[in-house]
Amino acid sequence: MVEIFGSLNQEIVNAINDVYKEIANRFRLPKHIKINLNIVDEPTIRELNKSTRNIDKVTDVLTYPYIDIRVGQQLKMSDYKYDIDISNNLLTIGDIYICYARALAQSREYNHTLKREIAFLFCHGMLHILGYDHMTETDARVMEDKQDEILSVCKITRMNFKSGFVTIIGDTNVGKSTLINRIVGQHVSIISPKTQTTREKIIGVYNDNESQIVFLDTPGYHKRTTKIDDIMEQNIYNAMLNSEIVIMMITAKKPLLEQFERLNKRVSTKAKRILLINKIDEVTYERLYPELVKLDARAVDEILPISALTGKNVDVLINMIKKYLPSYDYEMRYYPVDEYTDKNLRHIVSEIIREKMLYLLNDEVPHGVAVMVTSFNESVCPITIDAEIYCEKESHKPIILGKNGTMIKEIGTASRVSIEKIIGEKVNLNLFVKVKPNWRNDDKLLSAFGYTISE
Ligand code: GDP
Ligand code: MG
Repeated sequence: MVEIFGSLNQEIVNAINDVYKEIANRFRLPKHIKINLNIVDEPTIRELNKSTRNIDKVTDVLTYPYIDIRVGQQLKMSDYKYDIDISNNLLTIGDIYICYARALAQSREYNHTLKREIAFLFCHGMLHILGYDHMTETDARVMEDKQDEILSVCKITRMNFKSGFVTIIGDTNVGKSTLINRIVGQHVSIISPKTQTTREKIIGVYNDNESQIVFLDTPGYHKRTTKIDDIMEQNIYNAMLNSEIVIMMITAKKPLLEQFERLNKRVSTKAKRILLINKIDEVTYERLYPELVKLDARAVDEILPISALTGKNVDVLINMIKKYLPSYDYEMRYYPVDEYTDKNLRHIVSEIIREKMLYLLNDEVPHGVAVMVTSFNESVCPITIDAEIYCEKESHKPIILGKNGTMIKEIGTASRVSIEKIIGEKVNLNLFVKVKPNWRNDDKLLSAFGYTISE
């Protein structure tokens, strides 16, 4: 049995008893065995360390065995006849001291529960009493494996779930959206061969059984001209501040060093840096190599050549990202698994419509266009969506509508097909074209379209 001195909540007490039962079973401990588990504060454990080990330090756990057995040796009551407490017939085999404050701090540091930490420390102490040690590397590994085994039988395993934020920065057209779409496998970010298509940070969320990676896609850098551009700059900066990782994407088709240095200057954060050299499907290694060696590998944490288009090395990238993300003892998902973005479907729908216009219309028109979903009715079949398209000039309206409405029809059909793919159901899409001069400089309209400066 374990006698606990100090207060612990019932859940933790249960975990300790589970660990004890498993150990007693495993090592065939006699029934009449007792362990003293003392939960103490920092001064107490420091004092103990000082008086018994001559170390002036706060440690997480201290163990004092009363018995002397080697690993694998069977503990027999008869060997300790004179140590048995005659009042209750129990043999106390050791004292374990756990520093509560240290355990709590460590549980936070490792992103796991206090229950897990205290159960782990108790298990560690128990193994010491039973002769285990970690003086040599081999011994330490044996002890660690035993601990893992015991805790996992007791279902107090560490999940090692990885999650966090990754910001992708890079010039327009290097392939940021293509990469996000490939990774997330959903249509979350606009892809276009034209420039300046991604106007705001759009989040793509990658999920698997052991991780969640939230991608912040940022617009390309360019001259400031309108309010939107200010907001974009602000968003790039905020996105980076909140990320664990910044991916700097450059293209293999242009000189690497110049692109890299320009991007690297803008990264002012403690985040890990991954330099991605995209579009390697378009250059030979012979051409890339002399460019690669010019880069200072020490300026970043990783350099990886990839092709967002063919998918080459994208799996390597995912593993690389996971390596740098904090690990959690529980399923730490910032967003539910079935959401592709942090914005709702309305937003995705408006992005799709805007993207189709970018493909189907030429020149200036699409860039002065915003789309707002005004109605999203899922209770009817097919799902019915109304969206308004705002253009800046009266003269843009007929271009968007096309001759006899053929263009708007084409935009509508193309959008509907994409939307149906995402929703997985038939959709009825109605588009309305309206003129709203100067919407790009109107704060209220901007926020209505979802352009917000994040805190
Ligand atoms: P963004 O502006 O950085 O988001 O770039 P996009 O993802 O919109 O991509 C711009 C263009 O580059 C598109 O035509 C993509 O198809 C193309 N592209 C993206 N990644 C690759 C790649 O790995 N190889 C090649 N050959 N083209 C790519
Ligand atoms: Mg993009």
